[in-house]
Amino acid sequence: MENMETRVGPKGLIKKHELVRIIIQCLYSIGYSKSAACLESESCITCKSPELESLESQILKANWDDCIRNLDKINGLTDETRASALFLVLKQCLLECLDSGDISLALNILQKHLSALKIGKEKVHKLSYELLSLKGQGLGFIDYDAVHELRKRLLSDLKKVLPPPITLPEGRLEHLVEMAVCAQVDGCIYHSSSDMISLYRDHHCDRGHFPTETIQVELWISLTFAAKHSLGMLKIQIWKLII
Ligand SMILES: [Zn+2]
Repeated sequence: MENMETRVGPKGLIKKHELVRIIIQCLYSIGYSKSAACLESESCITCKSPELESLESQILKANWDDCIRNLDKINGLTDETRASALFLVLKQCLLECLDSGDISLALNILQKHLSALKIGKEKVHKLSYELLSLKGQGLGFIDYDAVHELRKRLLSDLKKVLPPPITLPEGRLEHLVEMAVCAQVDGCIYHSSSDMISLYRDHHCDRGHFPTETIQVELWISLTFAAKHSLGMLKIQIWKLII
Protein backbone atom coordinates (compact mmCIF):
# COMPACT_ATOMS: atom_id res chain seq x y z
CA MET A 1 0.00 0.00 0.00
CA GLU A 2 1.34 3.41 -1.02
CA ASN A 3 2.33 5.69 1.84
CA MET A 4 -0.14 8.59 1.62
CA GLU A 5 2.48 11.05 2.88
CA THR A 6 5.19 10.26 0.32
CA ARG A 7 6.11 13.42 -1.62
CA VAL A 8 7.76 13.83 -5.00
CA GLY A 9 9.32 16.79 -6.80
CA PRO A 10 12.29 18.94 -5.74
CA LYS A 11 10.16 21.16 -3.49
CA GLY A 12 8.31 18.28 -1.86
CA LEU A 13 4.93 19.85 -2.59
CA ILE A 14 3.39 17.01 -4.58
CA LYS A 15 1.78 14.04 -2.88
CA LYS A 16 2.84 10.96 -4.80
CA HIS A 17 -0.50 9.16 -4.47
CA GLU A 18 -2.36 12.23 -5.82
CA LEU A 19 0.03 12.51 -8.76
CA VAL A 20 -0.34 8.82 -9.59
CA ARG A 21 -4.14 9.06 -9.33
CA ILE A 22 -4.43 11.94 -11.79
CA ILE A 23 -1.97 10.20 -14.15
CA ILE A 24 -4.29 7.15 -14.07
CA GLN A 25 -7.28 9.41 -14.75
CA CYS A 26 -5.43 10.96 -17.69
CA LEU A 27 -4.48 7.55 -19.11
CA TYR A 28 -8.13 6.46 -19.01
CA SER A 29 -9.32 9.69 -20.61
CA ILE A 30 -6.88 9.54 -23.53
CA GLY A 31 -7.68 5.92 -24.27
CA TYR A 32 -4.87 3.99 -22.58
CA SER A 33 -7.15 1.96 -20.34
CA LYS A 34 -4.86 -1.10 -20.21
CA SER A 35 -1.94 1.02 -19.05
CA ALA A 36 -4.21 2.79 -16.55
CA ALA A 37 -5.42 -0.52 -15.11
CA CYS A 38 -1.83 -1.78 -15.01
CA LEU A 39 -0.72 1.31 -13.08
CA GLU A 40 -3.66 0.93 -10.69
CA SER A 41 -2.59 -2.65 -10.04
CA GLU A 42 1.11 -1.81 -9.63
CA SER A 43 0.60 1.25 -7.40
CA CYS A 44 -2.47 -0.02 -5.49
CA ILE A 45 -3.94 3.44 -6.18
CA THR A 46 -7.30 3.53 -7.92
CA CYS A 47 -8.74 6.26 -10.07
CA LYS A 48 -12.14 5.87 -8.43
CA SER A 49 -12.35 6.32 -4.67
CA PRO A 50 -13.95 3.46 -2.66
CA GLU A 51 -16.94 5.77 -1.98
CA LEU A 52 -17.49 6.41 -5.68
CA GLU A 53 -16.98 2.73 -6.50
CA SER A 54 -19.76 1.79 -4.02
CA LEU A 55 -22.09 4.52 -5.27
CA GLU A 56 -21.56 3.43 -8.87
CA SER A 57 -22.39 -0.19 -8.09
CA GLN A 58 -25.48 0.77 -6.04
CA ILE A 59 -26.80 3.18 -8.65
CA LEU A 60 -26.32 0.82 -11.60
CA LYS A 61 -28.14 -1.92 -9.63
CA ALA A 62 -30.82 0.54 -8.44
CA ASN A 63 -29.97 -0.28 -4.85
CA TRP A 64 -31.34 3.08 -3.72
CA ASP A 65 -31.58 2.49 0.04
CA ASP A 66 -27.90 1.52 0.29
CA CYS A 67 -26.94 4.38 -2.03
CA ILE A 68 -28.74 6.93 0.15
CA ARG A 69 -27.26 5.42 3.33
CA ASN A 70 -23.82 5.50 1.69
CA LEU A 71 -24.16 9.18 0.76
CA ASP A 72 -25.42 9.98 4.23
CA LYS A 73 -22.34 8.53 5.94
CA ILE A 74 -19.63 10.02 3.68
CA ASN A 75 -17.44 12.21 5.87
CA GLY A 76 -16.41 15.74 5.05
CA LEU A 77 -19.40 16.81 2.95
CA THR A 78 -21.12 20.11 3.64
CA ASP A 79 -24.87 19.94 4.30
CA GLU A 80 -25.46 21.65 0.97
CA THR A 81 -23.33 19.18 -1.02
CA ARG A 82 -24.92 16.19 0.72
CA ALA A 83 -28.40 17.58 0.05
CA SER A 84 -27.57 18.20 -3.62
CA ALA A 85 -26.21 14.67 -4.04
CA LEU A 86 -29.20 13.11 -2.27
CA PHE A 87 -31.55 15.21 -4.37
CA LEU A 88 -30.07 13.76 -7.56
CA VAL A 89 -30.31 10.18 -6.29
CA LEU A 90 -33.88 10.63 -5.02
CA LYS A 91 -34.94 12.13 -8.32
CA GLN A 92 -33.74 9.08 -10.25
CA CYS A 93 -35.16 6.71 -7.64
CA LEU A 94 -38.60 8.38 -7.77
CA LEU A 95 -38.56 8.49 -11.55
CA GLU A 96 -37.99 4.75 -11.73
CA CYS A 97 -40.69 4.04 -9.11
CA LEU A 98 -43.21 6.17 -10.98
CA ASP A 99 -42.20 4.68 -14.31
CA SER A 100 -42.92 1.21 -13.00
CA GLY A 101 -46.27 2.45 -11.66
CA ASP A 102 -45.27 2.00 -8.04
CA ILE A 103 -46.82 5.22 -6.74
CA SER A 104 -47.01 3.99 -3.14
CA LEU A 105 -43.29 3.19 -3.08
CA ALA A 106 -42.55 6.64 -4.53
CA LEU A 107 -44.65 8.29 -1.81
CA ASN A 108 -42.99 6.12 0.82
CA ILE A 109 -39.55 7.25 -0.38
CA LEU A 110 -40.64 10.87 -0.37
CA GLN A 111 -41.91 10.62 3.21
CA LYS A 112 -38.94 8.59 4.39
CA HIS A 113 -36.12 10.66 2.97
CA LEU A 114 -37.04 14.19 1.99
CA SER A 115 -37.90 15.45 5.45
CA ALA A 116 -35.25 13.38 7.26
CA LEU A 117 -32.52 14.61 4.92
CA LYS A 118 -33.46 18.26 5.36
CA ILE A 119 -33.94 18.97 1.68
CA GLY A 120 -35.41 22.46 1.45
CA LYS A 121 -38.89 23.30 0.18
CA GLU A 122 -37.42 24.86 -2.93
CA LYS A 123 -35.75 21.59 -3.93
CA VAL A 124 -38.89 19.58 -3.14
CA HIS A 125 -40.86 21.88 -5.45
CA LYS A 126 -38.19 21.57 -8.13
CA LEU A 127 -38.23 17.80 -7.78
CA SER A 128 -42.05 17.67 -8.03
CA TYR A 129 -41.97 19.90 -11.09
CA GLU A 130 -39.30 17.83 -12.82
CA LEU A 131 -41.12 14.58 -12.10
CA LEU A 132 -44.38 16.01 -13.42
CA SER A 133 -42.53 17.14 -16.55
CA LEU A 134 -41.15 13.66 -17.02
CA LYS A 135 -44.61 12.20 -16.49
CA GLY A 136 -45.79 14.41 -19.31
CA GLN A 137 -43.09 12.93 -21.54
CA GLY A 138 -44.57 9.44 -21.22
CA LEU A 139 -43.67 7.47 -18.14
CA GLY A 140 -44.00 3.74 -18.40
CA PHE A 141 -42.21 3.67 -21.72
CA ILE A 142 -38.63 3.89 -20.50
CA ASP A 143 -36.80 0.79 -21.66
CA TYR A 144 -33.84 -0.84 -19.99
CA ASP A 145 -31.25 0.96 -22.14
CA ALA A 146 -32.80 4.34 -21.39
CA VAL A 147 -32.88 3.58 -17.66
CA HIS A 148 -29.23 2.52 -17.80
CA GLU A 149 -28.35 5.76 -19.58
CA LEU A 150 -30.25 7.80 -16.96
CA ARG A 151 -28.36 6.02 -14.19
CA LYS A 152 -25.05 6.74 -15.91
CA ARG A 153 -26.08 10.37 -16.28
CA LEU A 154 -26.88 10.43 -12.56
CA LEU A 155 -23.36 9.14 -11.84
CA SER A 156 -21.89 11.81 -14.06
CA ASP A 157 -23.94 14.51 -12.29
CA LEU A 158 -22.89 13.15 -8.89
CA LYS A 159 -19.22 13.37 -9.89
CA LYS A 160 -19.73 17.08 -10.50
CA VAL A 161 -21.35 17.57 -7.10
CA LEU A 162 -19.09 15.47 -4.88
CA PRO A 163 -15.72 17.04 -4.03
CA PRO A 164 -12.20 15.55 -4.16
CA PRO A 165 -10.88 13.14 -3.03
CA ILE A 166 -14.20 11.31 -3.51
CA THR A 167 -14.18 12.38 -7.15
CA LEU A 168 -11.57 13.98 -9.37
CA PRO A 169 -12.33 17.06 -11.46
CA GLU A 170 -12.42 16.07 -15.12
CA GLY A 171 -9.09 16.32 -16.96
CA ARG A 172 -7.18 17.28 -13.80
CA LEU A 173 -3.66 16.53 -15.09
CA GLU A 174 -4.26 18.32 -18.39
CA HIS A 175 -5.64 21.31 -16.49
CA LEU A 176 -2.55 21.51 -14.25
CA VAL A 177 -0.14 21.20 -17.18
CA GLU A 178 -2.06 23.83 -19.12
CA MET A 179 -1.99 26.18 -16.13
CA ALA A 180 1.80 25.78 -15.90
CA VAL A 181 2.18 26.51 -19.63
CA CYS A 182 -0.11 29.57 -19.41
CA ALA A 183 1.88 30.90 -16.42
CA GLN A 184 5.10 30.57 -18.43
CA VAL A 185 3.58 32.34 -21.43
CA ASP A 186 2.28 35.12 -19.17
CA GLY A 187 5.79 35.55 -17.79
CA CYS A 188 7.45 35.48 -21.23
CA ILE A 189 8.73 39.06 -21.71
CA TYR A 190 9.35 38.78 -25.45
CA HIS A 191 6.46 36.45 -26.24
CA SER A 192 5.96 36.32 -29.99
CA SER A 193 4.55 32.90 -30.89
CA SER A 194 2.70 30.02 -29.27
CA ASP A 195 4.36 27.69 -31.78
CA MET A 196 7.40 27.78 -29.52
CA ILE A 197 5.53 26.10 -26.64
CA SER A 198 6.73 22.61 -25.78
CA LEU A 199 6.28 20.48 -22.69
CA TYR A 200 9.91 19.38 -23.06
CA ARG A 201 11.34 22.68 -21.86
CA ASP A 202 10.28 25.83 -20.03
CA HIS A 203 8.81 28.41 -22.36
CA HIS A 204 10.95 31.40 -23.30
CA CYS A 205 10.79 33.48 -26.49
CA ASP A 206 14.05 34.90 -27.73
CA ARG A 207 14.39 38.68 -27.84
CA GLY A 208 15.67 38.41 -31.40
CA HIS A 209 12.29 37.15 -32.57
CA PHE A 210 10.41 40.04 -31.01
CA PRO A 211 9.07 42.65 -33.49
CA THR A 212 11.02 45.88 -33.22
CA GLU A 213 9.79 47.88 -36.20
CA THR A 214 6.46 49.65 -36.23
CA ILE A 215 4.38 50.49 -39.17
CA GLN A 216 2.47 53.68 -38.83
CA VAL A 217 -0.92 52.19 -38.28
CA GLU A 218 -2.98 53.51 -35.46
CA LEU A 219 -6.21 52.01 -34.37
CA TRP A 220 -8.58 54.17 -32.37
CA ILE A 221 -11.22 52.53 -30.27
CA SER A 222 -14.01 54.54 -28.74
CA LEU A 223 -14.73 53.74 -25.16
CA THR A 224 -17.70 54.98 -23.24
CA PHE A 225 -16.78 55.52 -19.65
CA ALA A 226 -19.90 54.64 -17.73
CA ALA A 227 -19.04 56.74 -14.72
CA LYS A 228 -18.68 60.04 -16.54
CA HIS A 229 -20.76 59.27 -19.63
CA SER A 230 -17.97 60.84 -21.58
CA LEU A 231 -16.13 59.49 -24.56
CA GLY A 232 -12.55 58.42 -24.23
CA MET A 233 -10.11 57.19 -26.83
CA LEU A 234 -7.68 54.33 -26.56
CA LYS A 235 -4.75 54.32 -28.89
CA ILE A 236 -3.29 51.00 -29.89
CA GLN A 237 -0.12 50.74 -31.87
CA ILE A 238 0.25 47.72 -34.11
CA TRP A 239 3.65 46.14 -34.42
CA LYS A 240 4.86 44.85 -37.72
CA LEU A 241 6.34 41.38 -37.55
CA ILE A 242 9.71 41.16 -39.21
CA ILE A 243 10.19 37.80 -40.87
ZN1 LIG B 1 6.93 33.37 -25.40
